[in-house]
Amino acid sequence: MITNKTLKLSLKSLREFAKKRLPDEVLIDLDARDECPLEIVRHMCSPDKLGIQLLFIPEEFGGMGGGTFDVYCVCEEMARIDLGVATAVLATFLGSDPITVGATPEQKKLWLTRIAEEGLLFAYGATEPEAGSDLGALRTTAEPVSEDGHVVGYKITGNKQWISNGGIAGAYTILASTPSGPSWFVVEKDAKGFTHDKPEDKHGIRLSNTAALALDNVYVDADRLLGGVEGQGLIQAQAVFGYTRLMVAAFGLGAGWAALDRAIPYSTKRIQAGAPLSEKQGYTHKLIVPNVARSEAARAYIEETAERIDAGEGSLNTEGAIAKYMATEAGNMAADASIQALGGYGYTHEYMVEKIKRDVRITTIYEGTSEIMEMTIARDRWQLHLKTRGQHYHEQAKKLEMLHSSHQDVGADIAALALHSVAELMERSRVARLTRFQHILLRLGEWIAYAECAGSLARRAASLAENKLNEKANRRFDATGLAAISRIFAREAANKVGEEGSRWVIGAGGVSTPDLSAFEKSVGLPAIHQAQAGLVSDMDYVADVLYGRTAKRTQQAA
Ligand SMILES: Cc1cc2nc3c(=O)[nH]c(=O)nc-3n(C[C@H](O)[C@H](O)[C@H](O)COP(=O)(O)OP(=O)(O)OC[C@H]3O[C@@H](n4cnc5c(N)ncnc54)[C@H](O)[C@@H]3O)c2cc1C
Repeated sequence: MITNKTLKLSLKSLREFAKKRLPDEVLIDLDARDECPLEIVRHMCSPDKLGIQLLFIPEEFGGMGGGTFDVYCVCEEMARIDLGVATAVLATFLGSDPITVGATPEQKKLWLTRIAEEGLLFAYGATEPEAGSDLGALRTTAEPVSEDGHVVGYKITGNKQWISNGGIAGAYTILASTPSGPSWFVVEKDAKGFTHDKPEDKHGIRLSNTAALALDNVYVDADRLLGGVEGQGLIQAQAVFGYTRLMVAAFGLGAGWAALDRAIPYSTKRIQAGAPLSEKQGYTHKLIVPNVARSEAARAYIEETAERIDAGEGSLNTEGAIAKYMATEAGNMAADASIQALGGYGYTHEYMVEKIKRDVRITTIYEGTSEIMEMTIARDRWQLHLKTRGQHYHEQAKKLEMLHSSHQDVGADIAALALHSVAELMERSRVARLTRFQHILLRLGEWIAYAECAGSLARRAASLAENKLNEKANRRFDATGLAAISRIFAREAANKVGEEGSRWVIGAGGVSTPDLSAFEKSVGLPAIHQAQAGLVSDMDYVADVLYGRTAKRTQQAA
C-alpha cells in the first residue's frame, strides 16, 4: 500500500507533466493526425521518469504495491488528461493482470520486474474477429510441442482484434485454446510468425494505438504458459474483472468530469439574453447538475468497491460491473451534455469537449460492453434474490432506513425506496417468469445498478458528514453539498426503478389489469412520487455549490 502523501505527489507530478507536455494544442494536433505519442507513453511508464506502472507492481518485484483505491485515483487523473494515453498505460496494467493473478513465482519475477525496471509495455490479447463479448468462441489455438513425452513448447496460431498497444508493445499476453482449454501465454514482439496490422482509424482515443495481431505458428517455450497449467485462462481473466472494470469506471468518471469542468467555467462567461448561462436554471438543471449527480453516484460506488477489494473481500466482479456500467454511462452523458452546454463552440475541435465525447465513447464498449455489464449484474443479483427468497434488496433497504434515522439529509430513505422497488420488480418477474425475456433481465441489471449506487452515495455522504471518509477519497464537495447531490440522485434512481420497472414488467405481461393499482403500490410508486418533493430546490443548491454562489445564498438568507 502506498501512503496518501505519495499518492498525492504522484497525482501532482502527473498533472504537471500533462500541463507541460500535453496542452490542448498538442492533444488536438495528435488527435487530428491520429497519432499515438509513443515517447510520452514511454516517459509515463519509465521507472526513472513518471513510472506510473510502478504503482500497480508489487513491491517484491520493484514496484510500489499500490492498492485498488490508488489505481482508481491514478486512472481518473489520467482520463482527465487524455483517454487515449490513459488507455496505452492501462493496456500494460491489463496485459500484466494474467501474470499477477495466475503466473508461477518465476514468471512473475521475470515479467513484473521487467515492467518495473525496463518500463516494458504490454498488450492484452483476448478479443478476436469472431470472439468479442463471447470469449468462449475463441479460435486461436496453442498446439503443444512434445519431446520425449514432455511438452516443451506451444505453437500458437490465430488472429486478435482491437488490441490496445497492439503495434507498440514489447510483450503480449495472448489467450489461446490448448487441448485442456483457454490459457494465457506471453509472446514477445519479435517472435517468428508474429505480426501486427496498421493502427485502426478510430472514432476516439486516437492517441492510443489499436491494432489487429496475427499469429502464424508462433513457437513459445512451455514456460510462457502462465501458471504452467493449461485451461486456466478464463478463470484467470475472471479473477481480475472487478479490479480492471473499476479502472475503466475511473476512466469514465475522469473523462465525464473533464468535460463538465470545461462546461462549468464556460457557462459563467457566456452571456445570452442578458445574463451568464450559469444563472439560467433551464441550462444548469438540464445540462450540468444531473450529470454531476450521476458522476458522483458512480464515484461513491467505485470508492466503496475499491475499499472492499483492498480489504480482501475478493474480486467483486459484479460490483466492478456496476461501477463500470454507471461511471461510463454517466461519463458519456456528461460529455454529450457538455457539447450542448458550449453550443456551436462545443461542436468544434478547439473547445475539446467534442474530443472528450469521442474518447469516452469507448468506455461503454471495451472491458465488457454496457449490455454485458447489465447481464452480469442481473444474473448475479437474481441468484441473491432467489437465495434469500426475495429478501436481499428489502434487507439492503432496511439498512438504509436505519441510516436515515441518524442522517436524515443524505437521501438514504429515498435510496431505500429504490431498493424496495427493485426487490418487488424482481419478485414479480420471478412469479410471472419474465426473465425468459432477455430485455427484462438486462433492464433489471440497469435498475439494480441505479438503486445500489443510490445506497452507496447516501452512505458516502453520511461518512463525509462524520469525517470518516477514506483519507485518499475525492473531496470536491463538502458534507452539505454531497448530501444534496445524494438526494438528487436517489430521487432519479427511485423514479427510474419505479416508473421504468412498472413499464417493462407491465409491458412483458407481468401484471393483469385488475391487479394494476396493487402492483403500482407494491413497487412504491406513490411514495416515490412523493419523494420528488424538494428536487428543484436541491438542484438550485447544487448549482450554487458548483458555481461558488453559496456565500451569496447565506448572505441573502441572513
Ligand atoms: C479501441 C478499442 C480497444 C480495445 N482494446 C482491447 C484490448 O486491449 N484487448 C482486448 O482483448 N480487447 C480489446 N478491445 C475489444 C473490446 O473489448 C471488444 O470490442 C468488446 O468486448 C466487444 O466485443 P465486439 O467488438 O466483438 O462486439 P460484440 O460482442 O459483437 O457486440 C456487439 C454489440 O452486441 C451486444 N451484445 C453482445 N452479446 C450480446 C448478448 N449476448 N446479448 C445482448 N447483447 C449483446 C454488445 O453489447 C454490443 O452492443 C478493444 C476494442 C476497441 C474498440
